Amino acid sequence: MGDKRKILIADPSTALIDAVLTSKEGKNFEFATAKTGPAALKKIQEFEPDLLIIDLMMPHIHALEIMKTIKLNSRYSEMGIIVTSYHVMIQNYHAVIDEGADYFLVKPFETYQLFELVETFFKGELKPAPFTLKSGSEIVETHCYHPIPSTLTSYIRFWGTRGSNPVAGAEYVRYGGNTSCLEVRHGDDLIIIDAGTGIRQLGDLIDLDDNQTIHLFVSHTHWDHITGFPFFNPLYKKTCDVVVWAPVGFEKSTKELFTSMLAYAYFPVRLDEMKAKVTFKELRDDRPVSIGDLIIDCHFTNHPGPTVGFKIKAPNKTIGYITDNEVLLGYHGHPNEIHRKHPLLEPHLGLIDFLKDCDLVVHEAQYFPEEYYRKTGWGHSSIPNATVLLKYTGVNEWLVTHHDPNHNDSDLQIKLQLHNDIIQECGLNIKVDIAYDGLMIPL
Ligand SMILES: [Zn+2]
Ligand SMILES: [Zn+2]
Repeated sequence: MGDKRKILIADPSTALIDAVLTSKEGKNFEFATAKTGPAALKKIQEFEPDLLIIDLMMPHIHALEIMKTIKLNSRYSEMGIIVTSYHVMIQNYHAVIDEGADYFLVKPFETYQLFELVETFFKGELKPAPFTLKSGSEIVETHCYHPIPSTLTSYIRFWGTRGSNPVAGAEYVRYGGNTSCLEVRHGDDLIIIDAGTGIRQLGDLIDLDDNQTIHLFVSHTHWDHITGFPFFNPLYKKTCDVVVWAPVGFEKSTKELFTSMLAYAYFPVRLDEMKAKVTFKELRDDRPVSIGDLIIDCHFTNHPGPTVGFKIKAPNKTIGYITDNEVLLGYHGHPNEIHRKHPLLEPHLGLIDFLKDCDLVVHEAQYFPEEYYRKTGWGHSSIPNATVLLKYTGVNEWLVTHHDPNHNDSDLQIKLQLHNDIIQECGLNIKVDIAYDGLMIPL
């Protein structure tokens, strides 16, 4: 026994200690063990090992501290040190070698690998190996995990989340300033809802070889929903068909409205001079439109003129999209006072039913309660009134869009907090967030 070389294994892992002690190579040595830094220091004094095998991250006292302490005592100057570690960083390697370790052994390792080092040490030949960490070109690509992003082929993307009027400036960079435009993609199918200023950027990115027919759904013809139309690039491509779906106008047909919007007095290219073939189709709330695997359904909302909201049915998700809707006209009271049979809720029951099967509802809440005192009847909802609509749909995911042009980024942050406060005060289970230009949601 007495002539066996003495090795102290200092490591917090019982499994590692057991593996070393029970290995066949281990029979030739006498071992002591320690699981913490203080225990290791104590064992070094009592056991006086020939070789210390120590984990870098010893509990309570780091291996580097232990090495600094024993360096001060000449009794241990002949003792070998192998530092083991999972923390393979070049700084750790240099610190360990500079402190006088004979080797930096990367974990995990096989016990035979450890004993090869032990043998080399006792032959007096152990020297630190250069630092290595696989990186860049050394990594074999086939062994790498390549996650598949689901959002690439099926998603909705907000290109404009502002209502009423576009905005620009440093105070709007977080949520963006373009007016309403939503891209809906499902494989090869492309649908656009509303042609606010956001449609210009979207138009520049559409691959016209892949998308020869573009279906544009228009909720209503207020400026914020059509003003980007003349700047929509595919309209100037001969090979492109643009189908405009809109509810029947009260005063004029949609085609007449678009024709007058594109009079020379307003814009240099008339509708009949556009290179693309533009056709107009009537949207009806009893006739959902199927485009590929997508079904687009609509429902009238409470807004001046014939205005619709949409429901996008994709194979795996259904999304409601309502940009302009004044819920509970003229109501300024507590949301909890609006019970299901309340006469003010009556005009919204159809829309509530329409949205019931949605996984997510995108719905405006344009005004703070105090703003709504002054803007009653303008066609937009206060935050508490919109919350009531969401409550009765039973949908528990809500994205707020159609932001007021007077609300800058910090106002919208305050609005988000107020949404959450109202939802909590009403005891509802609704996850709410604020939509921004560029936001993508997988379908
Ligand atoms: Zn609008
Ligand atoms: Zn409007």
